[in-house]
Amino acid sequence: MDTERLYYADAYLTECCARVIERAERNGQPAVALSQSVFYPEGGGQPADTGTLNGIEVLDVQAENGLVWHMLAAPLADDTVRGQIDWARRFDHMQQHHGQHLLSAAFEHALGLKTVSFHLGAGAATIDLAGTALSAAQVAAVEDLTNQVIWEDRPVLARFVTPEELAQLPLRKPPQVQGPVRVVSVADFDHSACGGTHPRSTGGVGLVHIRRWDRRGDALRVEFLCGGRATRDLRWKNAALGRLAGTLSVAPAELEDAVARVREAEERTRKQLAERIGQLIVLEATDMMTRAELAGIVQVVRHTYVQRDLEEVRALARAIAEHGGVALLGLRAEKTQLIFARAEGLAVNCGALLRETLAQFGGRGGGQPALAQGGLPDAAQLDAALAAAVERLRMG
Ligand SMILES: [Zn+2]
Repeated sequence: MDTERLYYADAYLTECCARVIERAERNGQPAVALSQSVFYPEGGGQPADTGTLNGIEVLDVQAENGLVWHMLAAPLADDTVRGQIDWARRFDHMQQHHGQHLLSAAFEHALGLKTVSFHLGAGAATIDLAGTALSAAQVAAVEDLTNQVIWEDRPVLARFVTPEELAQLPLRKPPQVQGPVRVVSVADFDHSACGGTHPRSTGGVGLVHIRRWDRRGDALRVEFLCGGRATRDLRWKNAALGRLAGTLSVAPAELEDAVARVREAEERTRKQLAERIGQLIVLEATDMMTRAELAGIVQVVRHTYVQRDLEEVRALARAIAEHGGVALLGLRAEKTQLIFARAEGLAVNCGALLRETLAQFGGRGGGQPALAQGGLPDAAQLDAALAAAVERLRMG
């Protein structure tokens, strides 16, 4: 015998009594098939119900060859059971699932966009539409149309139909099953072949809210929330908006303008800071040139920095070169670096000097005659490497 699926006739039944008609083991867990069940088995994009059988947790529910199998957290000895579903979870699924019917129908009525797939996740639900472009105004119009049908609280009719009746119905979604076909209808709006659970009337969905949409190859993925999920989402967004507005001491409606002002101010400050750092670096280079050492005929500034910004050290090397000197700078940061620069017209090849110095200390690198930079493998050798470079300059 097959399991009688009580949710077909009444999706609001939360419990029932039943006989165990078969027992099995699934993935190491005990499982039972029942004579009748209020549990919805996973299918049609709607997740399985959870709940209990005689107090034992039902972890998963799957349909197989006319039987509905209940996967249990522990063995069940009884031959008769009282089953109870997690109603909050089921009703959430009913809201998302039926909301999807209405949303898909609205996209088709308003824009001629067909739904090619549906996914109901724990956080949000998505549909994929056969299309590639969607404007914010179109999305708002579809959302409005869907909510209008929800608020009209039209009856939802779910029933098995004869082949003759089926042939008369303008189905949005054709049947994917063999045998008797169940059709879920909202008058003058949607007829879909579906074995899922639905509210009695469209008002049960409460609200549809489209959260985002983007293009996925040849399709458009639309993410939406219905009923309780939409309310919870709007609740945290409202709270977050309030907190953000509070940190800037403005009303939530003024937040966008306030953020734009903060960003402009930050950009001005960043530019000013870069300018001041540039000026400081020139002063620093001037000061360092007063303490330059003579190597052969060139003035050499040798110095090591710890955890300083690499771009700043490079700018400093260039500034020293502009003051007529040769900069041999070292930086101990995430990596240990040598930065060499020389003044225009000096007969020093920084690229060659760096290559020879690094070769002596197990590193590799090079660069242009005027500016070169490379990594030193052993940070402890930094002072020795700079001393060796000065010595090379001295030797000419
Ligand atoms: Zn359905």
